[in-house]
Amino acid sequence: MAWDFETDPAFEEKLAWMREFIETELIPIESILNELPADEWAVVKRHLQDRVKAEGLWGAFLDPKLGGAGFGQLKLALMSEIIGRCMFSMVIFGVQAPDSGNMELLAHGATDAQKERWLWPNLRGEISSAFALTEPFHAGADPTVIGTTAVRDGEEWVLNGHKWFITNASVADFLLVFAETNPEGRPHKHASVFVVPAETPGMDIVRDIGTMSHPTAEYGRPGNHAEIVFRDCRLPADHLIGAPGDGFVLAQQRLGGGRIHHAMRWLGQSQRSLDIMCERAVSRTSHGRLLGQHQMIQDYIALSHMEIQAARLLTFQTAWKMDKYGASRVRAELGMVKAHVSKVALAVLDRTIQVCGALGYSTDLPVESWYRTMRFGPIGDGPDELHKSVLARTLLKGYKPVDGWPTEHVPSRRPAAEAKWAELRADAGLR
Ligand SMILES: Cc1cc2nc3c(=O)[nH]c(=O)nc-3n(C[C@H](O)[C@H](O)[C@H](O)COP(=O)(O)OP(=O)(O)OC[C@H]3O[C@@H](n4cnc5c(N)ncnc54)[C@H](O)[C@@H]3O)c2cc1C
Repeated sequence: MAWDFETDPAFEEKLAWMREFIETELIPIESILNELPADEWAVVKRHLQDRVKAEGLWGAFLDPKLGGAGFGQLKLALMSEIIGRCMFSMVIFGVQAPDSGNMELLAHGATDAQKERWLWPNLRGEISSAFALTEPFHAGADPTVIGTTAVRDGEEWVLNGHKWFITNASVADFLLVFAETNPEGRPHKHASVFVVPAETPGMDIVRDIGTMSHPTAEYGRPGNHAEIVFRDCRLPADHLIGAPGDGFVLAQQRLGGGRIHHAMRWLGQSQRSLDIMCERAVSRTSHGRLLGQHQMIQDYIALSHMEIQAARLLTFQTAWKMDKYGASRVRAELGMVKAHVSKVALAVLDRTIQVCGALGYSTDLPVESWYRTMRFGPIGDGPDELHKSVLARTLLKGYKPVDGWPTEHVPSRRPAAEAKWAELRADAGLR
């Protein structure tokens, strides 16, 4: 198998531009972002997005045959790592979740008319979207069982159900809602995806839910996670994406590359966190030595670096394989990347807090906030346990059961070992 994670010089220049742009234009305003006047921020945000568009770096996740810039997963992984140094860059580069995944879904499943109405304006950044799958009374980890239903009534679909943790639902212009249309089609042909425009009668956005990341969620802010009730919510027939029962397959489309981009953004943030840890380690003294001269702190630093590097390589390799063989061939690997990197990122953030002591725990540094937000990693987009289970089952398919002693049972192998030894002796001319 050939491996090559190098990119061409022209693309390296793009990456350098991104690094510089994020470092000099975005990171400096990060700490006051939530205080900026909304109307002024809208203008400045548009200006920053235009600069990204002028560089040809906007909405880079979508394949060219689906209407995007089409960088491929490996290049996107490199871009995502840079974007991860400053998480709000996602908005400026047009790659923020859940919009990016939703656009992938629409690109795969929508008709031309539906694309005109929802995909292209979403890709241009004129409208925003949310994706509603998780429910309060059914395990989100198992989307083969959901309670939300959509029933056809003449030229309309009628939605009933209950969703929660739906990111951006309270500010989105439309929601992609996962609802059961074909109960007989379980496990994977039972549900469909519908576009529900904001303000559709029958869709009640009950509240935005407080989380570790934002304990006092103020209703209607981007990045919030909403609880929603659908009561006889009527949708025109053309708001169904794909055919009835296609929901599961379509929902898969929004997850593949997304896991790589998530992972690389988390690693970008982990590296920034390690930078904070190292700066502190060479700046502060305890017991007559710099923190970085204490072996346990050296262990934290070395371990964090090793884990980040190993995780980067794992993610790059998976991205490269995805470009070469397609998402379906690397399904288990995508889950492995997500499950592994989420743990690495949490561990590095945790060590940074530890090395920075009370300062690390405080809001004077950004790490405590990153840590609280990152805790979502092992839960969201399918809990890590599920990805590990898929990986283990995939690996187990490569093994056959044996009767009796294991293949590597030393006493059972002895006769074969002795026979082989006799053969090798004879071959070598020994009598
Ligand atoms: C910040 C945030 C944003 C989110 N945004 C969205 C969104 O925009 N749209 C959306 O639809 N959803 C969203 N979610 C929901 C998210 O996708 C779910 O939380 C996730 O899929 C897990 O589902 P659940 O919370 O119902 O946990 P459950 O399915 O109840 O699982 C709980 C725990 O049980 C264990 N578990 C479950 N299944 C297995 C298994 N097979 N093997 C071993 N252990 C298992 C795991 O430890 C798991 O963490 C968001 C969640 C958060 C926290």
